[in-house]
Amino acid sequence: MNLTTKIVAALVLGAIVGLLLNLTAPNVFEVLNTYLFVPVGQIFLSLINMLVVPLVFFSIVLGSAGLGDPQKLGRIGAKTIGYFLITTCIAVIIGLILAAVIQPGAAGEFDTAGAEFSTEEAPPVSETLMNIIPKNPINAMAEGNMLQLIVFAVFIGFALTALGEKTKGILSLVNQGNEIMMYLVGLVMRFAPYGTFALIATAIGTQGWNAILAMGSYMLVVLAALFIHSAITYGGTVAFLAKKNPLWFFKKFAPAMGVAFSTSSSNATLPVSMEVAQRDLKVPEPISSFVQPLGATINMDGTAIMQGVATMFIAQAYGIDLTMGELATVVLTAVLASIGTAGVPGVGLIMLAMVLGSVGLPVEGIGLIIGIDRLLDMTRTAVNITGDAACALYVGETEKNRNLQAVGRA
Ligand code: ASP
Repeated sequence: MNLTTKIVAALVLGAIVGLLLNLTAPNVFEVLNTYLFVPVGQIFLSLINMLVVPLVFFSIVLGSAGLGDPQKLGRIGAKTIGYFLITTCIAVIIGLILAAVIQPGAAGEFDTAGAEFSTEEAPPVSETLMNIIPKNPINAMAEGNMLQLIVFAVFIGFALTALGEKTKGILSLVNQGNEIMMYLVGLVMRFAPYGTFALIATAIGTQGWNAILAMGSYMLVVLAALFIHSAITYGGTVAFLAKKNPLWFFKKFAPAMGVAFSTSSSNATLPVSMEVAQRDLKVPEPISSFVQPLGATINMDGTAIMQGVATMFIAQAYGIDLTMGELATVVLTAVLASIGTAGVPGVGLIMLAMVLGSVGLPVEGIGLIIGIDRLLDMTRTAVNITGDAACALYVGETEKNRNLQAVGRA
């Protein structure tokens, strides 16, 4: 059995075991969960998280040094960020339209009076963007502040290119560091089927199924929007911009989606999604190294979809109509909120407070959906990282063609 099949089988088995135990033998689940699923899941999470900071650092230094001239880096940067912004806008709009048509918030009685949620944790996006240059790069690494880490690494990459011969030694050191990290990713991935099984069994087994039934229509709208966005926006990117077969793309990228699904963390999935993109999708290393870590940090289409649907849902549940102007505000703030969302579990929901606040919707409304958010978080994280890979493939293919043309002209 190859790794993809093993991971998919582990996901399905983990879900079945979690569900069956939850419904038929909760006590047995408690024991198994405490002594088996949680420890195995946590070990897997720690193993991949351990690789994230050094991998992102080494690969971005190499990526920006490998791209060579600043003009090329600028062009790739503009293409990447442009793609991220446009697709995230499309994502929110799909979420809003679907929720406006299906009206999940009008489909039942929701306890709006009893809903509670406190907002203290949401950091303003302006602050995140202003702090993009680290005062202390070691601190940024220690805290795992991805944006700061990326900026520092790009600077180092630039310097290595500018200094050329003088710093050849450091460049080969970084290269070897990257080799070591990629080797370790491959090693850790052998453990992935067990890790994903355990994480899924915990996630599914600890759900309150009554809550899920009550929130069924909201969940279905989010899932449908995630599916439509993946099929049309990413499928379209692969087919028309990268000129590749979308089925090939989704099939090759499936192991990374499986890991995202079980970990609910774009950051934790990064080592795997980069490996898959470089090895199986043949995205050139400097491009994957630049696009994917940046995407895992700022490009969250799945999260934006959830925020669009959730905003509509909460407005409907509270019986509040949103004007066209307010909807435009929702699109803008959801794009910003998804940029500000860190690639770790559950943060998208906290950032939703910002979107609701921007159009005066009650932030306590988040209390209505918090109970079932974990299942949606798994799915939207898989979409989040797929968007990054689609972008990496698109940028990689168009840059390849450009180089070929340049060679042809020479
Ligand atoms: N868990 C998501 C991610 O890591 C972020 C979120 O929407 O909560 O991509």
